[in-house]
Amino acid sequence: MKILIDEGKCVAAGQCVAAAAEVFDQRDEDGIAVLLDENPPAELADDVRQAAAVCPAMAITIVERTGSIPTATVAE
Ligand code: SF4
Repeated sequence: MKILIDEGKCVAAGQCVAAAAEVFDQRDEDGIAVLLDENPPAELADDVRQAAAVCPAMAITIVERTGSIPTATVAE
């Protein structure tokens, strides 16, 4: 899984840190969330999903990976 944080949405609530402290932290100056690990190991996946679920600003996006590389079609 890959994690994205939308800093513009983050309201510095800190719920993500409470749910997954190995993956999320907050900036000292304004409390905005920062990622400690944007590709966390599988054993942290449930904690990360919990963090995304409890984020009041819905600022956390999780990109699940299936193991295959997505392909893009380019229109000519
Ligand atoms: S829970 Fe959401 S709003 Fe709160 S610090 Fe984390 S990303 Fe920001």
